[in-house]
Amino acid sequence: MTRTVKCPGCGGPSLYAPENRWRPFCSERCRTADLGAWAEDRYRLPAESQEADGLPGDTPAPAAPDDSGRPRGDF
Ligand SMILES: [Zn+2]
Repeated sequence: MTRTVKCPGCGGPSLYAPENRWRPFCSERCRTADLGAWAEDRYRLPAESQEADGLPGDTPAPAAPDDSGRPRGDF
């Protein structure tokens, strides 16, 4: 006995059964997309989190100050 529900992500049929680990979504893609949009829309943090997880050694090094475009007042 299987039950099919409407996937909140794409609107397509989604198998509502224990074997569908993404239920009520039809797939991981729909679930991730929905959660991502939900988190972005309603849980947008006021400050950017500087925690980069999963990417060790990818922290951008502070570059030399770029003074191009800086107004010069010495002429
Ligand atoms: Zn879907």
